[in-house]
Amino acid sequence: MMSVVRAAARRGFATQSVVKGFDGAIGSTPLIYLKHLSERAGANIYGKAEFQNPGGSVKDRAALGLINNAEKQGLLKPGGTVVEGTAGNTGIGLAHVCRAKGYKCVIYMPNTQSQEKIDLLKMLGADVRPVPAVAFENPANYNHQAREYAESIPNAVWTNQFDNVANAEVHYETTGPEIWEQTEGKVDAFICATGTGGTLAGTGRALKELSKGKTQVWIADPPGSVLAAYVNTGKLDRAGGSITEGIGQGRITDNMATFVEQVDGAFTVPDEKTISILYELLDTEGIYLGASSALNVVGAFELAQKLGKGSTVVTVLADGAYRYQSRLFSKKWLESKGLYSAIPDNLKKYAVL
Ligand code: PMP
Repeated sequence: MMSVVRAAARRGFATQSVVKGFDGAIGSTPLIYLKHLSERAGANIYGKAEFQNPGGSVKDRAALGLINNAEKQGLLKPGGTVVEGTAGNTGIGLAHVCRAKGYKCVIYMPNTQSQEKIDLLKMLGADVRPVPAVAFENPANYNHQAREYAESIPNAVWTNQFDNVANAEVHYETTGPEIWEQTEGKVDAFICATGTGGTLAGTGRALKELSKGKTQVWIADPPGSVLAAYVNTGKLDRAGGSITEGIGQGRITDNMATFVEQVDGAFTVPDEKTISILYELLDTEGIYLGASSALNVVGAFELAQKLGKGSTVVTVLADGAYRYQSRLFSKKWLESKGLYSAIPDNLKKYAVL
């Protein structure tokens, strides 16, 4: 008799092996072929389904990598406290891993983030400390507050996702090689947005090495971030702002610095295009994504068009819309940002909140 797993695979369902605990379920995410967009571009566009990580986002990988690194270096001992500054997803990943490993978790975050993320962190037992959203140069910035707090209590570690290269390293060891295997080495380009830069730098470095320099690596940047300008002109210029959460950066973080000179190009993606494709992906592919993923897909589509017919471009589907639905699917909220009109008319029916 055919095993249940093999029978599931035959019917086209994903198959999963047994894993040990929460940590064991992080990574090895599927690579989704985005059918409709690929047809429209005449290319192969894939999204790495990072929303399938057990904590719901790409940042589960970084969370586990940062905690494993702190343990290995002897910075974190049983009963210790993990402190981080995060826009949300790293905090959610850390809160899960801390629960699973028995650590306390303290999260400093800018008070501009969605209520869903704050609520979830609290439900996961984290001590959440929203602070005013001020620039990195300001000592009251959430990252500096996280560092200072960790330094002020015993057996605590500030995981420092922006400048601790254990973050990019975990993507170098896992995300990049997974994409390489899943595409059987046929990947012309990888593109994604960056917050810490860990995903882009680690995955990009792995793919460049595995392809002997053939895979191009591009940045898709939201307005208000300096990276696209830096890649294209060498200047840290920024203009405008964006509704996307968790991406966009005002400086070259240490994670980004490990790789930025090898980046082949960058696009700035306006919020109108992000919102339009977010609704289109829901309508045509049945995938319910957060705004950074939608922005990544815009970038992948534009890059595929640039590289030409038959090219293969991979991007990251960083998290689902569940974390932002009170904003992204609210007519009123979108109108307040001038973005409701960006939804194609036949798709406005999805903005039900
Ligand atoms: N998308 C979302 C939704 C995120 O939360 C983040 C991280 N803040 C990113 C993308 C960017 O990932 P990275 O920090 O690895 O650049």
